[in-house]
Amino acid sequence: MSDEMIYLDNAATTAMKPEVFEAMKPYFMENYGNPSSVYRFAGTAKKAVEDAREEIAKALNAKSSGEIYFTGGGSEADNWAIKAAAESCRDKGRHIITTKIEHHAVLHTTEWLERNGYEVTYLNVDEDGLISLEELEQAIRPDTILMSIMFANNEIGTIEPIKEIGEIARRHGVLFHTDAVQAFGHVPIDVQEMNIDMLSASAHKLHGPKGIGFLYLRNGIKIGALLHGGGQERSRRAGTHNVPGIVGIAEATRLAMANMAANAKRETEIRDYLISRIENEIPYVRVNGHREKRLPNNVNVCFRFIEGESLLILLDQQGICASSGSACTSGSLDPSHVLLAIGLIHEIAHGSLRLTLSEETTKEDIDYVVDNLKTIVEKLRSMSPLYDDFVKKESEGK
Ligand SMILES: *Cc1c(COP(=O)(O)O)cnc(C)c1O
Repeated sequence: MSDEMIYLDNAATTAMKPEVFEAMKPYFMENYGNPSSVYRFAGTAKKAVEDAREEIAKALNAKSSGEIYFTGGGSEADNWAIKAAAESCRDKGRHIITTKIEHHAVLHTTEWLERNGYEVTYLNVDEDGLISLEELEQAIRPDTILMSIMFANNEIGTIEPIKEIGEIARRHGVLFHTDAVQAFGHVPIDVQEMNIDMLSASAHKLHGPKGIGFLYLRNGIKIGALLHGGGQERSRRAGTHNVPGIVGIAEATRLAMANMAANAKRETEIRDYLISRIENEIPYVRVNGHREKRLPNNVNVCFRFIEGESLLILLDQQGICASSGSACTSGSLDPSHVLLAIGLIHEIAHGSLRLTLSEETTKEDIDYVVDNLKTIVEKLRSMSPLYDDFVKKESEGK
C-alpha cells in the first residue's frame, strides 16, 4: 500500500481550495445573520449573497444577477429546471427532448415525467458522444416545450455544440436548458451568445463546497417555484440562504474564471500526455469521447479483457483514486449508459476507466499512474481466460 495519494476523480468531486474556505469562514460564526432580516447586522450576510450573485452572473455573461437562483447543488437545479418548465408549459405541449448521455439527475427526472403524462425523445450520440443537430431539429414537434442537453459529459468529457443547439432552440421557440455542472468554471460559457435559457451548475465540481449550486434562469421565463415557503430567491426557492455555501461558490467561481485559460492549457497538455502514454504503452485500448471537443481534464479509456471494478481496486492499493463507467454506485453490473450510447458492446464497456485531472495534477503523477496501470492491466489480463484465448488465436494467425 502506497502512502501518497493521487486523486484523479475530479469529475466526481474536487478538493475545496483554501481561499474558498477562508472566504466562507466568517459566515459561520461571526456574520451569522439571516440575509432576509432588516437590522444592519444581517446586512453583511445579505450583501455577501448579492455580491455572490453578481460574481456568477458575470461569469456567465448573464444580463442581471437576478437571473441567478441558488440551489442545493446540480441535481436540484436540474430537477427544478426540467420539472418546472414541464409544468408551466403544460398547456402548450408535453414533449421534451434530451439525450441518451445525460447525468441521472436529468434522465431520472425525464423518466419521472414520462410516468406523469409527458413524452420524451432521447437523442442518440455518435461514437464520440456528439449529438446530431439534424436529428435534434427533426425531433422538434409543435408540442415540444423543452430541450435539455448537457454542456459537457461527465463520463467521457465530450463537449456538445451548445451555440448551435441554442440557435435551433431559438428558431423553434423551444426552451433550452443545459446541465453545465462539468463545464462551468472549466470552459467559457456565454448564455447570451449561446442562447441558453436555463443552466445548472454546482460548486463542488470547481473546488467549492458541496451542497450548493445554482440555476441560471433567463429573465422573462415563467417557471414555477421549486420550494414553497419564505420569499427567498424571488419566492422561487424558499429556505433560509446557505450563506457560507453561497460565499464559497462565488469565491470558487472567481478563482476558476481568473485562472480558466491557464488551467485549461495546463490540463489539456497533461491530459494529452496521459492519453498518448496509455495508447502507446498498453495494447488493446480504446479512448472514449471526442479528441478535441473535450473537457481539458477528462480521460476515459476502455481496456479490453478487463473489468473496470478490478482495475479500480488495484489502483486504489497503489494510492490512485479513479472511477469506472460501470454503475458501481447502484450496485448494478450494467455498464454505463453513456458508453453503451456511443456504441460500445457490454464486454468492452465493462473495462472502462475514467481519470479526471485537476490543475494540481503533475506530469510526475501521470507517470506514476501509467507505470502502475501497465503492471495492473498486464496482471489482470494474465488472469483472464478471454485474453488467453485471444492471444492464442492471434499467434495462430486466427
Ligand atoms: C455531479 C453532476 C451533477 C450533480 O451535481 P450535484 O451538485 O452533485 O448534485 C449533475 N450533472 C452532472 C453532469 C454532474 O457531473
